[in-house]
Amino acid sequence: MTDFAVKYAAKLAGVGLCAEGEPFFVVQDAELAFSHAGDQRQGVAVAAIQGLGAAALLIARPIGACQMTVLALAEEALASGAGFVVPGDCETRTFLHDLPVVRGLDAPGLIEALSRRKGCIVVADGQALLAAAGSVSPEQAFVTASSMAFACFVAYFAKHLRDLRAGTMTEARRAVFAAIRAQLDQDMARLPGEMPELLPGPFADEDQARAAMVQAGRFVVEYGLVDSSFGNVSCRQMAPSGELLLISQTGSSLDELGGCIDPCRFDGASCVGLTASSELTAHRAIYDGGPALAILHGHPRFAVILSMDCERLDCPGLGECHRACATPRGFTTDAGLDIPIVPGEVGTGPFGLCNTLPPALNQGQGRPGAIVYGHGLFATGAVDFRAAFATLLDVERFSREEYFRRVAALDAGAGPPRRK
Ligand SMILES: [Zn+2]
Repeated sequence: MTDFAVKYAAKLAGVGLCAEGEPFFVVQDAELAFSHAGDQRQGVAVAAIQGLGAAALLIARPIGACQMTVLALAEEALASGAGFVVPGDCETRTFLHDLPVVRGLDAPGLIEALSRRKGCIVVADGQALLAAAGSVSPEQAFVTASSMAFACFVAYFAKHLRDLRAGTMTEARRAVFAAIRAQLDQDMARLPGEMPELLPGPFADEDQARAAMVQAGRFVVEYGLVDSSFGNVSCRQMAPSGELLLISQTGSSLDELGGCIDPCRFDGASCVGLTASSELTAHRAIYDGGPALAILHGHPRFAVILSMDCERLDCPGLGECHRACATPRGFTTDAGLDIPIVPGEVGTGPFGLCNTLPPALNQGQGRPGAIVYGHGLFATGAVDFRAAFATLLDVERFSREEYFRRVAALDAGAGPPRRK
């Protein structure tokens, strides 16, 4: 398990969330082991993992704009007396609930918060830390910490825009926002911007299709368009046994898909096992009703933030937007991509995105992509993953620019720009 602790500590640094060598894991193997030696947080971490009876405990300090957004929300939660951050995105809603905030790094505080939730935010020495426990493996703590960072990022920017619309913004918060934006510009510079070289289709056989999926999954994570433990990828491929829907397994790491792709039959026969992505039903319906041969699903941050922005502050449906928004919404990117925003919950329930997403994507000649409210973007390709990946990049770039355009317009008091 120590190897995994080292691996996931490195992964947190690899995606730019933490500084290299900073994330600290304690794992309970036959005896206690650490991701690195000599960490001054070791005493607290050991007492906490023992108090919790957990298999793994992670303490990590986010850097860059992530640090600033987590800290801003955590300070606000402490000041208001709430004691927790409530993100509004889907990833958190289904996976984390609220995020407790603890002042000061000590074992009793960690044990109290982590016995209630998978992860918590610690504010100590003017910095925000993410703490997470895993009952079985270090990977669980890694997933929780990445998800918390994503949730806070989305929640911070979404709230800023919402408060501007509501007229409750303060000068002090505007100043913090300006600093975070400047930091974000620096953070963005480390991400690749140009299209990666993706395997061209049509794919000759199942092996080639699988290789293209593995590659596409890796790039979606590398380009910062999703956390590795979320998102999914699928493709429709002819095989000697009949037509297959190849799809990433649920809970698989999108950047390590080798061996984690399930072949499902198109004739309705079930998949091997029950390991296929929880969005299999939606993927199948998209293929059934439209021209797509490949689907990429990520959680690009500004696309998610923009999907949650709404001018109707007095809408009677508030609170139900993520599952039952009745207003047709969407935008057209500068490159001309027509992207609807639909409600829909994860899974196949009555408000499931399997009911809303496929018709939105298959309208007319088929659309390049659609955003599920507060969740993420599903992009399609008619041949391979190149068009879908380009759509992810274009929609995220547009969403980021459009977000700051809306902020600027509201700051100028001119009201939001009118875009479809
Ligand atoms: Zn998703």
